[in-house]
Amino acid sequence: MSGTSIPPWPPAALTPEQLAALASFATDYALSHGIVYRPLVPSGAKEPPHDAVIHAPFSLLPSPFPRRLFEYAQSLQPDFDRLYASLAANHAFLERVIGGSVAPVDPFQRSLWDVYTTVSAETPAQSLQLGLFRSDYLMHDGGDQIKQVEFNTISASFGALSTRVNALHRALATASDNYFNAADGRINHANLPTNEALDILAGGLAAAHHAYRAQKSASAPSASPQVLFVVQDGERNAFDQRWIEYTLAEKHGVRVLRQTFAQLQDTARLAEGDKTLLVADGVEVSVVYFRAGYTPDDYPDQKAWDLRLLLERSRAVKCPSVALQLAGAKKVQQVLAEPDELERHLPAPSADVRGSFTQLYPLDSSLLGQEAQQLALDHPERFVMKPQREGGGNNIYRTDIPPALSAMSRQAREAYILMSLITPPQGVGNYLLKAGAGPTPALAADVVSELGVYGAILFQPCTSAGAGAGQIDVKHHESGGYLLRTKARESDEGGVAVGFSVIDCPVLI
Ligand code: ADP
Ligand code: MG
Repeated sequence: MSGTSIPPWPPAALTPEQLAALASFATDYALSHGIVYRPLVPSGAKEPPHDAVIHAPFSLLPSPFPRRLFEYAQSLQPDFDRLYASLAANHAFLERVIGGSVAPVDPFQRSLWDVYTTVSAETPAQSLQLGLFRSDYLMHDGGDQIKQVEFNTISASFGALSTRVNALHRALATASDNYFNAADGRINHANLPTNEALDILAGGLAAAHHAYRAQKSASAPSASPQVLFVVQDGERNAFDQRWIEYTLAEKHGVRVLRQTFAQLQDTARLAEGDKTLLVADGVEVSVVYFRAGYTPDDYPDQKAWDLRLLLERSRAVKCPSVALQLAGAKKVQQVLAEPDELERHLPAPSADVRGSFTQLYPLDSSLLGQEAQQLALDHPERFVMKPQREGGGNNIYRTDIPPALSAMSRQAREAYILMSLITPPQGVGNYLLKAGAGPTPALAADVVSELGVYGAILFQPCTSAGAGAGQIDVKHHESGGYLLRTKARESDEGGVAVGFSVIDCPVLI
């Protein structure tokens, strides 16, 4: 494949006056259009103020991204959506990978696994499951390829804010024509791909809601079910979630109730018989959308786990089901990279899915695992070690690997996978706007952008005679939209919410 050279970036020098004017335009646009966060918790307070916002971090310029690779990432998504849905419907696979190898060494995954096995032993009150996914990629090898970083099956965020940052960059391109378009004709609307992420996420939830209503009207018609957003206490990224709520109301006529684990612990119950989920003052829930529940911090005690089990048992459609959450374990990504494994679960891909994998190894006592440990000790600079966690801040990089490995018991190592480092191209800079950093942004001279692509899939395990493990009936499926997150290269971690990256938009080259 021929290489696409990434142009030097930013494309034109900007004077401090031009920069300040652009930043002021962009900041006001962000504040006016809901590209916002709650402010940090003031010292001495327990929660952020409920009536004030700051803008979410974003890049002043869109960042160059090869069109061919952007289209490749988009083309992979339908396959990945079907693949992960099928893994969640494959009990034998989950039993082997999660039950057999992750749960015994990782207490958090063990608790999720216990919820899964408890519910699996019962007659399911709801066979539909909803996945709202995001697959993340970095450019590799001078921008000639992309490689998958991870596949998110729970709480995939920033779909709404990134949709709005695309609009911001379009507005900037129009308003500031004489600043950078004169120097580089590439920053124009034709090269800023439209972003359907918000509509795809809301559309998936609406499809699940309507499927639930259709099931119900066939038995006992329900009053007025709502979609339940399970959220974290004091969530600063609440507006990314609110935009999904507003889109559900405006485009689909669907109501949303937001509740924390703590609130639900006091009120959630299942109706006798069909296990209809009732919360707050008796609101019937059609869909449980988890924007919490992906980190051990969300489960401080057994009562939180009891609640998760109750939600999982209920008749509501879960997004994600605990099976989908387990399928998102990094161990699964590593197992899929083993010879023939992907092909077994995705026999007829429409895109080159395997071509997006980088090298992945177990760190267990298998032969491959032992070889991987030696490789990591001999060439730590080529690798990252990852535990089965979501939400950032948990990975071990490069020269930190050998001491970490030696400090760990054999069993503790098994809770990690080893992944070769993806090496994004050099020579790209951008202005990263973070609230409170002053009126004239500084140039971050060496940045790295991570592309995420969204997918929504509503499905149920196939029950027809002769259906094999992992076969699914798909009721709704839409893929597309994107998140581009950009960070200074020296920061290994990529999270926007944790303050490392900013929301960006690709300019296709
Ligand atoms: P999390 O679940 O914490 O988001 P990720 O697997 O996405 O875990 O890793 C966090 C960040 O670490 C990514 O956003 C990326 O910036 C960096 N990273 C992860 N894996 C690799 C890799 N193989 N090569 C280079 N950077 C990586
Ligand atoms: Mg990630």
